[in-house]
Amino acid sequence: VSAWAKVPQGPPVSITEAYKADSNPEKINLGVGAYRDDKGKPFVLPSVRAAEKKVVESTLDKEYAGITGVPTFTKAAALLAYGPDSAPIKEDRVAITQSISGTGALRIGGAFLERFYPGAKTIYIPTPSWANHNAVFKDSGLKVEKYRYYNKDTIGLDFDGMVADIKAMPKGSIILLHACAHNPTGVDPTEEQWVAIAEAVKEGDHYPFFDMAYQGFASGDTNKDAFALRHFIKEGLRPCLSQSFAKNMGLYGERVGAFSVVCESGEEKKRVDSQIKILVRPLYSNPPIHGARIASEILNDPALNKQWLGEVKDMADRIITMRALLKENLEKLGSKHDWSHITSQIGMFAYTGLKAEQMDVLAKEHSVYATKDGRISVAGITTGNVKRLAEAIYKVTG
Ligand code: PMP
Repeated sequence: VSAWAKVPQGPPVSITEAYKADSNPEKINLGVGAYRDDKGKPFVLPSVRAAEKKVVESTLDKEYAGITGVPTFTKAAALLAYGPDSAPIKEDRVAITQSISGTGALRIGGAFLERFYPGAKTIYIPTPSWANHNAVFKDSGLKVEKYRYYNKDTIGLDFDGMVADIKAMPKGSIILLHACAHNPTGVDPTEEQWVAIAEAVKEGDHYPFFDMAYQGFASGDTNKDAFALRHFIKEGLRPCLSQSFAKNMGLYGERVGAFSVVCESGEEKKRVDSQIKILVRPLYSNPPIHGARIASEILNDPALNKQWLGEVKDMADRIITMRALLKENLEKLGSKHDWSHITSQIGMFAYTGLKAEQMDVLAKEHSVYATKDGRISVAGITTGNVKRLAEAIYKVTG
């Protein structure tokens, strides 16, 4: 008898299978978490192409990186997130390691907290959150609890519920915060709300863990999107941070990310850094170099950097335009619903407020595919399909 005879069949992890099976030439895939251009095609940023050319032409060797990755990359990644005026950066007290994109950064963070966090090994994540958060932190050995975040009646932020839950957490709790472009809801706190959230986190002596998977991709401005992280630090909090370059550089499959810990002193940073190395070594020894070299070129070469910031803004702007177009088309059809949340939400995803049954009908009768929770990837909308999409949503919502 096979050793795996008792392995149960797991549920599908990907949502694109039904889309692939549909033969309708006008089918629309709003399930993918990757940017698409206005033709619906994957997009490689011209700055990435240029940086990659530079990397290839410099015929570097393929030696191993150190355990914490390509230093020119991690140094620039920290600067991008924390900003040049950040006290922890100036005082050299940020421990950072390259990671296998954002997921890998979260996993290193989870493992580090599991091993060293002096308080309860429970992490609080928003309801809802990116579906993988629960699995990543559970598999890191942390207990996962929830705090209120989304209000389905307003299709907006449950700010009061969120702050009340933060205040009710046991002192010194670990709290996961989406730095910007909350996935799946697209609902972010305003800057004033972030100020109050920071106050509640500080009051409770909680430990903030920022997941920043969309810096620049939300508003089009990398500094604006870093507001929450930087504000917490100004308030004297010392968070840890997961960064991904999948979305803002379109480096999805290259797996470029970083995990960093803001420390109290340079001496503490050294100790934390030594333990991150001990943690990473048995996981994968050291990270891949190619994508990190590309990102390093983009972050360190002033001309390429400028070009990239423009391209990030173009991507964010296209998404913002598609939100407006979808809302406009729904209103033109005479929809009586309030669709203002489509344009007030931010980032790659919109939470439509559609129910699971309505999402089913969208797929079965209109060949429009997205997740059952009503989340659509705005990146999958184009000037070519937005009218048909609006009609489908209009029919389904009455
Ligand atoms: N966090 C959030 C909130 C995300 O949406 C994603 C990507 N879907 C990630 C982390 C990590 O993605 P990656 O591992 O591709 O960087």
